[in-house]
Amino acid sequence: MTDLNQPALQKCTDMTVEKIQIDTLVVGAGQAGVAMSEHLSSLGVPHLVLERNRIAEKWRTGRWDSLVANGPAWHDCFPGLEFDDVDPDAFAPKERVADYFEAYAKKFNMPIRTGVEVKSVERNADRPGFIITTSEGLIEANRVVAATGPFQTPVIPPIAPKDLRIVQMHSADYRNPQQLPEGAVLVVGAGSSGVQIADELQRAGKQVYLSVGAHDRPPRAYRGRDFCWWLGVLGLWDAEIAEPGKEHVTIAVSGARGGHTVDFRGLAHQGMKLVGLTQSFNDGVVTFQANLADNLARGDQNYLSLLDAADAYIERNGLDLPLEPEARNVYPDPECVTKPILQLDLAAAGVTSIIWATGFAVDYSWMKVNTFDEKGKPQHQRGVSSESGIYFVGLPWLSRRGSSFIWGVWHDAKHIAGHIATQRKYLSYRDATQRQSAE
Ligand SMILES: Cc1cc2nc3c(=O)[nH]c(=O)nc-3n(C[C@H](O)[C@H](O)[C@H](O)COP(=O)(O)OP(=O)(O)OC[C@H]3O[C@@H](n4cnc5c(N)ncnc54)[C@H](O)[C@@H]3O)c2cc1C
Repeated sequence: MTDLNQPALQKCTDMTVEKIQIDTLVVGAGQAGVAMSEHLSSLGVPHLVLERNRIAEKWRTGRWDSLVANGPAWHDCFPGLEFDDVDPDAFAPKERVADYFEAYAKKFNMPIRTGVEVKSVERNADRPGFIITTSEGLIEANRVVAATGPFQTPVIPPIAPKDLRIVQMHSADYRNPQQLPEGAVLVVGAGSSGVQIADELQRAGKQVYLSVGAHDRPPRAYRGRDFCWWLGVLGLWDAEIAEPGKEHVTIAVSGARGGHTVDFRGLAHQGMKLVGLTQSFNDGVVTFQANLADNLARGDQNYLSLLDAADAYIERNGLDLPLEPEARNVYPDPECVTKPILQLDLAAAGVTSIIWATGFAVDYSWMKVNTFDEKGKPQHQRGVSSESGIYFVGLPWLSRRGSSFIWGVWHDAKHIAGHIATQRKYLSYRDATQRQSAE
């Protein structure tokens, strides 16, 4: 058994497998794994990060070509390093976000091994710690941090039609408008991904039908400050629990084209056809729920509540920020709202493709440990799981609203690293007899 603090993984070439022993293994080197490594290093915890692809791979190959960060560069970064070639108020293109995390890992000399997949994690039967099987060999670790991402497996709901004449893809597989056949497109889901993809397709000349569910819709900016700033000063990123019923409500926001407020009625006035939640497909006809107007109204409420809270904050703190009464102007309801489309014959409407911007699930099937509920959901408190030595980082609402975002994951990683360091201290305690015999 080799004890390595700056490990090099041994290849598992035959039956004799040499094992690496490490205190803490972090699985995944997206932003969550990178943040973990920084905090573990600063607390002197020997660790190794394994990444099956490259650092921040999702930002390189897991998203569409034109994607930019949803938050401005001054906000969507970690303390300790700024984007060096992106204006602080601009929205970094996805490749620059990936470069940023690579640069971050380099700056802090992080022990990250790329191209190594973790296949399974099992608790040792007869002693503390875990045995980890990887694509390159075995590892023994006292602790394992799962930093494998909040958005792992694309989810397409079972209502998706079986009609092979329609091209269907998840937003995770969408790259650009050229990928789609001629014809109209139905985009199902109007969170940040769905609405940005729908907008791009509409601008590329396609007739787009956008299926809109419940959403939050903050202004991109108000009275000279980005919404990320407003959520920060108003304490909303730090909210520890979602408002009841809003746990899965998506945020519709966009940094595309320099950043703009998502305004569904504005999109409809440019020709997009808005529809309610997609309910079912039968014989080439799709049925939508009659809830478009309600969903828009709730999105408006959310939008206006942020303007009100921002105005109150400015007033209370005597800030000198410019008035912006035009932010309260609303487009008149377009026809697709006043006379909602409840059914659409796809062929008659010329719809040749469907994009499912319907979210993701997590997959922890490789973690053979006892910390999941019957639905496979990890049981944890701020990332510290119910199975001693197992941690999760990067999940939505892990500790707060910001947890799955760049800004929030850094703070969660700090808390988890602190917990690990404290546990190490307890476990390194030796009583007087043990201390004497060690002398
Ligand atoms: C379209 C989109 C846009 C987003 N835009 C923003 C934004 O602008 N700002 C923001 O703050 N957040 C944004 N987010 C949310 C969040 O920041 C990203 O999802 C981010 O990628 C999450 O980082 P992560 O490290 O938690 O997970 P990931 O980036 O998914 O990283 C997990 C890593 O784990 C690796 N991995 C998984 N399983 C294994 C295994 N078994 N063995 C080894 N490695 C493994 C994967 O290869 C991956 O690299 C966006 C999300 C999406 C989907």
